[in-house]
Amino acid sequence: MATISVNYDLHTHSTASDGTLKPSQLVELAVASRVGVLALTDHDTIAGVTEAMRSANSFDIKLIPGVEISATWERQVVHLVGLGVNIADSQLLMGLQGIATNREARAKRIGEKLAACGIEGAYAGAREIAGGSAIARPHFARYLVQQRVVADTQTAFKRFLVRNRPAYVAGCWASFAQGVEWIVASGGQAVVAHPARYRMTRSKLRRMLAEFKSLGGSAIEVVSGTHSRDETQAMARYAREFDLAASAGSDFHGPERSWSKLGGLPPLPADLRPVWDEWR
Ligand code: AMP
Ligand code: MN
Ligand code: MN
Ligand code: MN
Repeated sequence: MATISVNYDLHTHSTASDGTLKPSQLVELAVASRVGVLALTDHDTIAGVTEAMRSANSFDIKLIPGVEISATWERQVVHLVGLGVNIADSQLLMGLQGIATNREARAKRIGEKLAACGIEGAYAGAREIAGGSAIARPHFARYLVQQRVVADTQTAFKRFLVRNRPAYVAGCWASFAQGVEWIVASGGQAVVAHPARYRMTRSKLRRMLAEFKSLGGSAIEVVSGTHSRDETQAMARYAREFDLAASAGSDFHGPERSWSKLGGLPPLPADLRPVWDEWR
């Protein structure tokens, strides 16, 4: 029997976090981009999932409820994608609520640090850009562009918002074990997001993946909008070594980030076990 290959994109953002499309607009763009299965995985929130689900129901597309949890592993920030999470799970919701509270406090401190650089009103400005959603550094970057402090958001990050820059404030995230636990206990599959982005040594990444596996983690993103071809090959080797399933996601944040297109991903290496094998 001939199989029709389905286009999976299992890592995307909406205005519920730092994306620029509303959940329904994201779904509409995914349909137009011939995505068959889409996961909405906003940073530390599931607030966009209901709208995305409602929109997906009126099209020929499957929507996977997801989240991207910010976690700390050995003092480094690591992102954990949860796929198929139960968005009514109280442990998950309480965990995400804790991160949201910490995000807000951190945002106020970022505002204070920008004020110390002579840039007033940044917290209020970023808060307004975020609307009612979870506030993140890209909202500050957009505020700095709006105020003509910098020409573009990349420069805002480089000059102000990354480590060792004047408005950097470390986040207070979930522990690695908590992040995996919240996802798995709510019925989801835990996936290490964009593993090549952490710039870990091989031995450190191996140690993290061994721990991830022992905590009940399922998969790593082998194909990512943020991975080069070489990085994809390298991550495929880790999936084999640790017998982890493989996921694929663009990390789409909006049409203005032209380098990460929705649904435009290369296929997974054929010998790997896709994270969606269990969904059929
Ligand atoms: P936060 O969770 O508040 O620390 O914000 C992290 C988000 O900022 C990431 O999810 C990216 O969308 C974005 N980001 C992080 N680093 C950079 C960078 N160097 N340039 C542009 N965007 C970035
Ligand atoms: Mn982001
Ligand atoms: Mn991420
Ligand atoms: Mn992401």
